[in-house]
Amino acid sequence: TSATSNSDCIFCRIVAGDLPSTIVAETDSAVAFNDIDPQAPVHVLVVPKKHYGDVAQVAAADPELLADIVSLADQVAGTLADGQFRLIFNSGPRAGQSVFHVHAHVLAGAQLGWSPA
Ligand code: 5GP
Ligand code: ZN
Repeated sequence: TSATSNSDCIFCRIVAGDLPSTIVAETDSAVAFNDIDPQAPVHVLVVPKKHYGDVAQVAAADPELLADIVSLADQVAGTLADGQFRLIFNSGPRAGQSVFHVHAHVLAGAQLGWSPA
């Protein structure tokens, strides 16, 4: 355990290689892995290696890291799909956030519908 990794956090454990996942891409600052319950043909989660709770915390503390997350999402969509993608950050339980390590959902590979509620 350290200031930037939390053994109680499942995404910190995936970043540490301590919990299995299917990693599809990685940079110095972020990891992309398949969502365990995919909602589209491509459904990848992009997480920073450093623990932040939600997207606003990353944006405030380290905007360059947020840009890294977006760039990695774009790279994944280009590799696994046709380069077009939807990027979703759920922020707070009412928005559907269930894991409190910031993650971008990258959805791609199909014509996507729109039914958030
Ligand atoms: P949230 O609801 O917080 O926006 O998204 C959490 C996502 O993490 C969900 O889409 C869920 O399927 C995924 N997830 C939860 N636990 C695991 C896990 O252990 N491994 C992987 N690969 N995905 C997970
Ligand atoms: Zn974490």
